Amino acid sequence: MSSTSVNVSAAPEADVVELLLPQVRKFLAREVRAEAIDREGLIPAAVRESAAGLGLFGLTIPTEYGGAGLPLGSACRVVTELARVDRSIAIMIGLHVGLGTRGLVAYGSPELRSTWLPRLASGECVASFSVTEANAGSDLTAIRTTAEPTREGLRIVGEKSYVTNGGFAGLFTVLVRTPGIGGERATSVVCIPRDTPGVEIGLEEDKLGVRGSSTVTLTFDGAVVPWTNLIGEAGRGMDVAHELLGWGRTLMSAGCVGTARAALDATVAYVGMRRQFGRAIGEFGATRVHVAWMAARVHAMEAIMKSVADEQARGRNIETSSAIAKVFTSESAFAVCDRAVQLHGALGFLEPTGVARMLRDSRITRIFEGANDVLLVRIGAARVTSSAPIVQFDDSPSVRALARRLDDAVAEIRSRLGIRAVRRQLLLQRIASAEISVTVARAAALSGGPLGHYASEQLVEEGHHALDRLVRAERDEDEATALFESR
Ligand SMILES: Cc1cc2nc3c(=O)[nH]c(=O)nc-3n(C[C@H](O)[C@H](O)[C@H](O)COP(=O)(O)OP(=O)(O)OC[C@H]3O[C@@H](n4cnc5c(N)ncnc54)[C@H](O)[C@@H]3O)c2cc1C
Repeated sequence: MSSTSVNVSAAPEADVVELLLPQVRKFLAREVRAEAIDREGLIPAAVRESAAGLGLFGLTIPTEYGGAGLPLGSACRVVTELARVDRSIAIMIGLHVGLGTRGLVAYGSPELRSTWLPRLASGECVASFSVTEANAGSDLTAIRTTAEPTREGLRIVGEKSYVTNGGFAGLFTVLVRTPGIGGERATSVVCIPRDTPGVEIGLEEDKLGVRGSSTVTLTFDGAVVPWTNLIGEAGRGMDVAHELLGWGRTLMSAGCVGTARAALDATVAYVGMRRQFGRAIGEFGATRVHVAWMAARVHAMEAIMKSVADEQARGRNIETSSAIAKVFTSESAFAVCDRAVQLHGALGFLEPTGVARMLRDSRITRIFEGANDVLLVRIGAARVTSSAPIVQFDDSPSVRALARRLDDAVAEIRSRLGIRAVRRQLLLQRIASAEISVTVARAAALSGGPLGHYASEQLVEEGHHALDRLVRAERDEDEATALFESR
């Protein structure tokens, strides 16, 4: 880390974050021009260097390798702060400290860790994480990129799409097929240095939002890396990728919180200032309902993000809870930004207010790291196949009533449909929506205060609405299917 970074050697984690956040705010205010980054589709190299100087690339990398060794929850706080000003920077850092380096930290060989982690912590080298291919997006079992064992090491052939940070990353963490290790369907995660012969980097994609973040295609044409570049158990790549995605989705939730908070702040300022019909538009009851909804949503987003990070810190498996947080925060951020645009009127539709950019930047989070439609089906499937009840003994009365209703509905579906329930996508999605409402309502209630209570009650109401629609789910899906097939 450079001399401007925070000295973390002796400070406890909470203190490190408290020391770091004011420096992050100063860096954002002095050096980051979000509208220019968006317009030019690029984070300037000088901004990247300043971020590196602050130690942002080393947030979660252990101190013995020069990082700050912060837990997931602390990294989330920093990513939230970054996203309040610029979502592309938040994505660059969030991806690096989460999906990009987490595998190396948790599973890398001592040799791989000592070679790469110091450079990754200093920001001299940036990391990326690639699973997606042209024909393997939501369905990762369809990946074709293959690492074949040879005498020299692993020889990699294939192509990865939409690689965040890929334009400047020095290390690519890649999910590959390894039929030569562990059988025909086996996959593994492997680190591939950028300068490996046979690695080609494509051009930057032109995007709707997060335009400053780098997104490229990577081609591997016989790139050979040593066996020691495997991360985690060979042949268990999908398990490693799913574990890393738990981190990735929580850090993505942190970015959603930051963007939504910025949209809320901008809206509160605007409705207090803009006058129509002889008074500030913030004095109209309908406007207040919108703003209260936005504030409650942001509060709930923050509560669920913290709750997942806490779970991770307690050593729990966060695969489902991070997916719940990802779906909730990404849908909520988009909805909050949409209301921000609405309350800014025509000005919201123009770029200078910044809320239009926030709306554009929020769109991708409903798609990447698992499209929300797909995650909803998975969350619902996990619920109908789990015997554990969702209700908890310490739930507030309204959360308990919703959770009990969901448990009863799931029991009825299980006894009526059995395993056939997992083929009923709309049913699963509505179960998932109700489960998300329970989980986030619980987190919001526990966060306390009037806003926590308000958010929790709103979510309980939404959960009941999802359950009301559950009885029609099979009919709705059948009607849509019939319409689709009759075209
Ligand atoms: C800016 C950007 C950055 C990205 N960064 C990365 C990165 O760093 N690393 C990486 O590996 N990937 C990255 N991605 C890729 C991203 O994760 C994928 O786009 C995402 O997983 C969805 O895959 P897909 O685009 O192929 O959509 P598809 O799988 O083709 O799905 C399209 C839509 O079909 C529907 N759908 C698909 N399957 C189902 C199903 N089973 N049930 C119900 N509905 C379904 C959903 O509505 C879905 O949104 C990035 C993408 C973008 C745009």
